[in-house]
This record gives sequence, C-alpha cells and structure tokens, in this order.
Amino acid sequence: MLKNKVAVITGSTSGIGEGCARALAKEGCHLVINGFGDASEIEALRASFEADYGITCLYSPADMTKPDEIAEMFEMTVRELGGVDILINNAGIQYVSPIAEFPTEKWDAIIAINLSSAFHTMHHAIPIMTKRGWGRIINTASAHALVASPNKSAYVAAKHGIAGLTKTAALEVARDNITVNAICPGYVWTPLVEKQIPDTARTRGMTEEEVINDVMLASAATKKFTSIEQVAALALFLCGEAAENITGSLQVIDGGWTAQ
Ligand code: NAD
Repeated sequence: MLKNKVAVITGSTSGIGEGCARALAKEGCHLVINGFGDASEIEALRASFEADYGITCLYSPADMTKPDEIAEMFEMTVRELGGVDILINNAGIQYVSPIAEFPTEKWDAIIAINLSSAFHTMHHAIPIMTKRGWGRIINTASAHALVASPNKSAYVAAKHGIAGLTKTAALEVARDNITVNAICPGYVWTPLVEKQIPDTARTRGMTEEEVINDVMLASAATKKFTSIEQVAALALFLCGEAAENITGSLQVIDGGWTAQ
C-alpha cells in the first residue's frame, strides 16, 4: 500500500527520523531525507537507502529554522518526485537549563525547530496531499507533550504546542483522507538523549549513571528505553490502512510514564 508513495521526513539523518525513513523505505516509499551532519555520512546514508531498498532517496539540507529553505525542500520534492504523500515532522533539539538562565537564542531555536517548522511543512504539504486525495502527517512529539520536567521550558512548551497543532491540523483536513497524528515517546536511546546526559548531570549535580537511572528511567514504569525501531513501527502503522480513522491523536509510547 505504501509502495511508490513519497515521504518527507525532517531530521532524518539520525535517530528516530532515520529509523522512520528506513521503515518507510522497506515498504517501497521514495524518500526525502533532511537534517544536519557530516556531508559524506549523509551521502552514504542516502545512497544506502537507494541501494538497499530500490527506492529514490533525495537529501534536502533545509534548516528547519528557515521557512524559505522549508519551501525549497517542498519545491524540490514536487519537481523531482511529483508530490508528497507522507510527512513526518521529526527534527528536534533539546536544551536543559532553568528558565532564569535559559539563553534566549536557545528558546528561539527550540521553538523554531521543534514547533514552528511543523507549521511551515504542513503549510506546503497539505495542499499537495489534498490534491492527491490522500495523506499521512505524523509529528514526533514527546511524553513532554503531556507532562513537564524542570529545566526543559522551551522543549516542553514546543511539544505541548505540537500536540495542539496536530489536533488543529487533523480537524482541518479530516474530510480530505489526510490524517494527522503525533507520536509521544518517552526516552528513546538516540544521539539526542545521549547528548543531554552530561548537561542534566551538570544542572542537577548528579553522575551520568544517576541521570540515566534516577532521571530518564525514573518515570518509566517499565524501566526500559523505547527503541528507535519501536517508534518507527508505530509511525508505519499510522501510515497504514488500519489507521485510516485515527486522526488528531497523541500516540503514547512511553513505558507507562504518563499513566502515573
Ligand atoms: P537526533 O539528535 O538523533 O535527531 C535529530 C535530527 O534533527 C537530526 O537529523 C538533526 O540533524 C535534525 N536537526 C536538528 N536541527 C535541525 C534543523 N535546524 N534543521 C533540520 N534538521 C535539524 O534526535 P532524536 O532523539 O532522534 O529526536 C528526534 C525527534 O524525536 C525530536 O523531535 C525529539 O524531540 C523527539 N523525541 C525524542 C526522544 C528521545 O528520547 N530520543 C523522546 C521523545 C521525543
């Protein structure tokens, strides 16, 4: 069912986005991958998607803080691949600090990348999907779309915002065969999580091991990290026929964190 569909996945040079790209490529979707990183590593990833799955995979270097570059990403997608069927808004960054010391530029960057970029991508994707009569939009939110943690003001605000944006977009396109949902993972073992361990250790005066056990997995009833593959499998399900009537939902995959 997903063979020859076109998927645009922001922040897919690493972590969850790369996992979602791989899961869709396995189903025969053509891809536009996006994100930062070493140019030769990104090219190797792009080429491996084409070689391993027999699909077309393009790379867009669009910076999600720049609406013009987001527009160019969609111009390229339409020009080279004919349209877009699946959009996964996944690019995201984190910064950990109390509000009193939180740098303004970090606040602005997190709101731009983790929240506003999803508005800009949907602004371009929805008219294309409406014309094609089918679409799937998935926003990678977080358990932090539902609950807060100290020292993550911008991230929690952006993720709560993406929950509202998901619901609003879902209602606007509900009759157009386009679904819009958010996935809300607890901690997934990715480079983003790895990077925040030293920061959290510093701001809370803990060892890195204490951060993993007493902060990150403290709230997970299962005491397990979610895997990238588990998030990707949920995204794939949301793209499938069985999920046709699931829209405007927040799909929690957090080891029981927000059940408490
Ligand atoms: P990651 O750091 O592995 O990947 C982030 C991706 O976003 C990378 O490809 C990076 O290059 C890209 N990116 C960053 N800034 C960008 C920009 N300005 N423009 C374009 N791309 C940019 O992180 P991840 O853990 O895979 O996170 C992916 C998403 O999942 C994020 O939205 C994050 O908030 C969310 N999330 C992660 C976890 C977790 O525990 N890892 C939990 C809940 C939600």
